[in-house]
Amino acid sequence: MQRSFERPQTLEQAIGLLEKHGDAARPLAGGTDLLVQMRAGLLRPAVLVDLKGIEELMSLELGADEVVIGAAHSTASLRENADLVALFPGLLEAAELIGSEQIQGRASLGGNLCNGSPAADTGPALAVVQAVCEIAGPNGRRTLPVAEFLTGPGATALGVGEILVSLRISRPPARAADAYLRFIPRTEMDIAVVGAGAWVRLEADGSCAEARLSLGAVGPTVLPVALDALVGGPIDDAALATAGEAASAAARPIDDKRGTIAYRRQVSGVLARRALRIAADRAAQRS
Ligand SMILES: Cc1cc2nc3c(=O)[nH]c(=O)nc-3n(C[C@H](O)[C@H](O)[C@H](O)COP(=O)(O)OP(=O)(O)OC[C@H]3O[C@@H](n4cnc5c(N)ncnc54)[C@H](O)[C@@H]3O)c2cc1C
Repeated sequence: MQRSFERPQTLEQAIGLLEKHGDAARPLAGGTDLLVQMRAGLLRPAVLVDLKGIEELMSLELGADEVVIGAAHSTASLRENADLVALFPGLLEAAELIGSEQIQGRASLGGNLCNGSPAADTGPALAVVQAVCEIAGPNGRRTLPVAEFLTGPGATALGVGEILVSLRISRPPARAADAYLRFIPRTEMDIAVVGAGAWVRLEADGSCAEARLSLGAVGPTVLPVALDALVGGPIDDAALATAGEAASAAARPIDDKRGTIAYRRQVSGVLARRALRIAADRAAQRS
């Protein structure tokens, strides 16, 4: 099969190529999902549109109010930015879990989201920091919260010709921090049995002002867990137990070779408690 590889230098050129070739074209960021799917014969795009030549998709801006991460920026180079790691340790924990050093040299946050895997590590971590997806397409630009961007297994809200340009995240306020934990059957290079992203903001007296939790790999897409019961009280063992029960109840896992439904529900509760504990400890350091 004749295949062409395009390397546009602008977003407009990339959108034009995707519009022109429709289903025959695919954006390519790191290729760490796409090339594997092509080798397995699951996808046969005639036109690959390389996004890594487009400056806006490769940028990283740490602004006064928000951080803007180019969708095709490699996760390895994100991890090298100490200021970014200090701001969002949980998000960077999730990014660091993707594959290996070699994979991270190519893999992007945008690709991790656009691939739409329910087990993708950065989905829950981006959801709890309320990241917003900036999308560009033939009809201009629009934004969507990550939780609305991910619509189901292998599916996103992207329309024909649309490209995820960047992820915008507000700087955390005082006494707020994130954390991410996942459980896999081996020590590395496997996909999540459960992933848990947590975010906590504390009042000056140490009580819980806000708590957010999102689960990965236990539903068709990232699952939010309501934690209203924690607000106003201390984040102690009792509160964490309540959060763990809420996480187990919210999980909607399937049985597969990585775990049974009951097992995944239980692990959801355990990871929820632990991730919230870490986020709360970090938040307490940020007073
Ligand atoms: C050995 C190995 C281990 C892995 N381990 C993990 C892991 O532990 N956790 C995990 O979550 N993932 C893992 N992955 C999957 C993969 O590495 C990640 O999902 C990665 O973040 C994908 O990013 P990418 O830039 O390579 O995406 P690509 O493969 O380039 O793209 C993925 C999909 O998104 C589309 N796309 C990419 N960027 C955009 C954009 N900006 N706009 C619109 N569409 C776009 C592509 O067309 C394609 O359909 C692993 C993969 C391998 C090969």
